[in-house]
Amino acid sequence: MIFYVLTLFPEIIQNYCGYSIMKRAVENGIFTVNTINPRDFTLNKHKKVDDTPYGGGAGMVLMPQPYVDAYESIVQCKNTVTVMLSPQGEPLCDKIVNELANYDKMILLCGHYEGFDERIREIIKPREISLGDFVLTGGELPALCLIDAVSRKLDGTLGKIESADEDSFSNGLIEYPHYTRPREYRGLKVPDVLLNGNHKDINEFRLQESLKRTKIKRPDLYQKYIENSSI
Ligand code: SAM
Repeated sequence: MIFYVLTLFPEIIQNYCGYSIMKRAVENGIFTVNTINPRDFTLNKHKKVDDTPYGGGAGMVLMPQPYVDAYESIVQCKNTVTVMLSPQGEPLCDKIVNELANYDKMILLCGHYEGFDERIREIIKPREISLGDFVLTGGELPALCLIDAVSRKLDGTLGKIESADEDSFSNGLIEYPHYTRPREYRGLKVPDVLLNGNHKDINEFRLQESLKRTKIKRPDLYQKYIENSSI
């Protein structure tokens, strides 16, 4: 997978990808992250990428020319997806992450200020994805969330030790509780079943805990899970 991130702040993207699991996966060639700065594509002498909105109002709007030219500088293959990070997009979820992990190239468009001139949407026709019903100052954090979530689904990003198979949402439920050393902390004990080495019992305990906490914390998911399992 190759990620191309169109951003006015490439350091934010590169810095995050330089740590921990992401760093190791990049070093192992599982995916690469390229940044492209639309400011480098401006045709005006002050390298201006934004301007005031026609019709008035607060904030600055990202001009189409630098974004479209930066986008068109990327060589696309058949299996490329372009994503615009936008509070107006479809809310990100595990299903979308799985879908996106099937592409070979992903181009991510990060907005800033008041957002994109509408013609950027009209020309590029990206898939719009939102992190949720709130507004951030820029698209870099949502782009990183997407890169991080998608890269965890790629073969080789996670070692066995960090396997995603049992993570929340992978089976429609949220995950069971985890415990590590010590066996007792401030009077709170690790459940006995996790200490007895019986994997059948451990799996059953974990499933029941997953069901219990999904019912309480995410009744919407619980309902869906129950409906699907009774089909
Ligand atoms: N004026 C825009 C609106 O009301 O829809 C919001 C623009 S926001 C201040 C600037 C940029 O941050 C957006 O273009 C987008 O790239 C990013 N952004 C902000 N909130 C986001 C969210 N919830 N999900 C994804 N991207 C977001």
